[in-house]
Amino acid sequence: MSPGPASPDIAIVGGGIVGLWCAHVAAKRGAQVLLIEKRTIASGASGGMLGALMPHQPTGWNAKKQLQLDGLLSLPGRVAELEAQTALSCGYARTGRLMPIGHPEKRRQSAQWADGAAEHWPEGCAWTVEDANPAPGWMTDGALTDGVNHDTLSARIDPRRLTAALRAALETHDHVSIRENAEITRIGADGALTLPNDETIAPGTTIIAAGTGAFALVDPAEPGRVGRGVKGQGALLKPTRPVDPVSPILYDKGVYVIAHESGHIAVGSTSEDTFDAPDTTDDKLDGIVAKATALCPALEGAAIIERWAGVRPRAEGREPLVGPLPGGHNVILATGGFKISFAIAHLMADAAVGYALGGQPDGLPELFLPAQRGITLRRSP
Ligand SMILES: Cc1cc2nc3c(=O)[nH]c(=O)nc-3n(C[C@H](O)[C@H](O)[C@H](O)COP(=O)(O)OP(=O)(O)OC[C@H]3O[C@@H](n4cnc5c(N)ncnc54)[C@H](O)[C@@H]3O)c2cc1C
Repeated sequence: MSPGPASPDIAIVGGGIVGLWCAHVAAKRGAQVLLIEKRTIASGASGGMLGALMPHQPTGWNAKKQLQLDGLLSLPGRVAELEAQTALSCGYARTGRLMPIGHPEKRRQSAQWADGAAEHWPEGCAWTVEDANPAPGWMTDGALTDGVNHDTLSARIDPRRLTAALRAALETHDHVSIRENAEITRIGADGALTLPNDETIAPGTTIIAAGTGAFALVDPAEPGRVGRGVKGQGALLKPTRPVDPVSPILYDKGVYVIAHESGHIAVGSTSEDTFDAPDTTDDKLDGIVAKATALCPALEGAAIIERWAGVRPRAEGREPLVGPLPGGHNVILATGGFKISFAIAHLMADAAVGYALGGQPDGLPELFLPAQRGITLRRSP
């Protein structure tokens, strides 16, 4: 594989969903792009199989919730363009979501969510509180002690099909190079990127989209100042009988059940702040599969075809980090999507590439800016 240009217009560090969208947007804007990935494309947190695109609760409205709504509403168009360009499906469908209500007090809260959706969501996207099971056979009736929340905005996408399509689109451009098995170990005061063999790359601008790896690149001595990883485990199951692939997402107490275009059903996820190994699965995943099966009778007897774990990038302060990095020479940060990256990565990319090309993108919450959060590029002594 060619090492790519030594002085690209834009170097993107990290080939997960954020880095791939950044490369796609930059390539479409005509920049010469070098995408540099430590392992292989989409081998980090973006290599999973869940793909839930679920809105935040529509109360306590703020700039982050608005951005995520913008992301959810604009993603289908962006995906359709990508599918047309590559002739590959990304497995997107607006399936809606069902969330059982387990307590009368929660039902009152649900009514507030329904009101919030009516106020903030556009026409055609609704949140209703229902008594009858909207998906008998898919969701157990036993879950419905106090009714069920039903939203029609939630969607799912196949993370692996989406990242494959983004890669395929990048490979059609002469001005894009992808370099795998290449780790950036240091960002110099002049913006030069160092690889382990002391090779350097001197990009016009660098976008750090390295997921949890971004934290140590930005602050080698104290990565926790920038963010930390939260491990998640999920599984892919093959049901004994075909299920409707556009069945609504089921979500109850942290457990998701998602029917995919492939005919498989993804279930997840654990949320682990402490862990020894980032990519192993254990009995915590068995617990998730058991809860998912209790929620979704279609999973009874289903074969587990894959168990998977990854580490989500959670920025300090919880909001994603997108924007110029003070202390860096033309360095832009784009990470920290945590549990909603797949809904907003294309908008993170629009903003990051906009900054990289000298613009002042709007629409991004101020709090996403590293400067607003006191995040600066620090170098190892
Ligand atoms: C079990 C589980 C379920 C999830 N479910 C959902 C979901 O349903 N919906 C949703 O939106 N999100 C979900 N997420 C979260 C989502 O997967 C992540 O937020 C997202 O993948 C992060 O993308 P990223 O591009 O920022 O990071 P990554 O995908 O981790 O990509 C970063 C890349 O950078 C590379 N890298 C790191 N350091 C360097 C370096 N120094 N040099 C070069 N390359 C480097 C890594 O190898 C990696 O490939 C889930 C996560 C998990 C673990």
